[in-house]
Amino acid sequence: MTPMKARTPSVRASATSGDDAHLTAPWVDIKRFAVHDGPGIRTTLFLQGCTLRCPWCHNPETYEAKPRLAYAAHRCLHCGECVAACPRGCHTMVDGRHAFDRTRCAGCGQCVEPCLGSALRLYGRSITVAEAVAWLLEDRAFYTASGGGVTLSGGEPLVHADFCRAVLARIRAEGIDTAVDTCGHVPRHAVERVLPCADRFLYDLKAADSGLHSRLTGVDNQRILENLLFIAAAGKPVEVRMILVPDRNMAEADIRKAGELLRGVRTLTGVKLLAYHALARSKFAALGLPDTMPDVPSPDATALRRVADQLRSILPAGALVTF
Ligand code: SF4
Ligand code: SF4
Repeated sequence: MTPMKARTPSVRASATSGDDAHLTAPWVDIKRFAVHDGPGIRTTLFLQGCTLRCPWCHNPETYEAKPRLAYAAHRCLHCGECVAACPRGCHTMVDGRHAFDRTRCAGCGQCVEPCLGSALRLYGRSITVAEAVAWLLEDRAFYTASGGGVTLSGGEPLVHADFCRAVLARIRAEGIDTAVDTCGHVPRHAVERVLPCADRFLYDLKAADSGLHSRLTGVDNQRILENLLFIAAAGKPVEVRMILVPDRNMAEADIRKAGELLRGVRTLTGVKLLAYHALARSKFAALGLPDTMPDVPSPDATALRRVADQLRSILPAGALVTF
């Protein structure tokens, strides 16, 4: 995700009338001109909160659905501007050096704006349905010109299923394509909430084997696979996204099992292979979270091609597998 300073979107009342326009959700980023989150040019809104804790997560700022301050120590100028801004005494200067006590932080964000080094960033500010819709409609011309649309992602956006439904319904009423990027580890009713107003799904698959899934993420994949088949049975196009982590989930047997599973997803539009990388490692440090990123290299093009070829050999002829 591209770092972006928080701002307050303007509201277009005509697009946001209705009882649920006041619903809120915590968000972490908005990505405009996205070309990998569904067809055409899209705008992707990333919501905070997730039902999984994948150790290789590229977006650990989305783990919990509550405000969290990130402090990038390497950017700190030790100017001390944050000290007076914080009502809880989290920031102090010791011998001319800045120190941050996260245990006292309430996530109010008051220290972010004064920070001269852009070392502080608050994730998880609250946004209303009305604000989100107004923000997303700003890029309508690009959706129209490219056959694109709006994608809700996370974290796990369906943690906020009612919010997602309200946003997607309004966007769709404007004639704009809508997509949900989900890990699928959500109750069925959360899927059912968005099903009528989502044109398509991007669906993460960590491992097809339940035992492997448990070892990797701490939970089995029964609910995930059931929701995947439920969405397909409802006729919604599904693009499956597989993050490939060396020594974790890309052995030949793992891929064969994934291919055999995906062969049964009748609305499958394609499989996108995503290469693990450790660039998010610095985020864990900035967020004060334990670094759980696997200490393995990114899979190279040869490894990705091997997986793609294996999947193509299992999936129906012409299946789109990209990386
Ligand atoms: S987010 Fe609020 S409580 Fe936390 S350090 Fe900044 S000003 Fe203090
Ligand atoms: S305001 Fe920002 S740059 Fe200045 S001491 Fe605080 S964290 Fe560092």
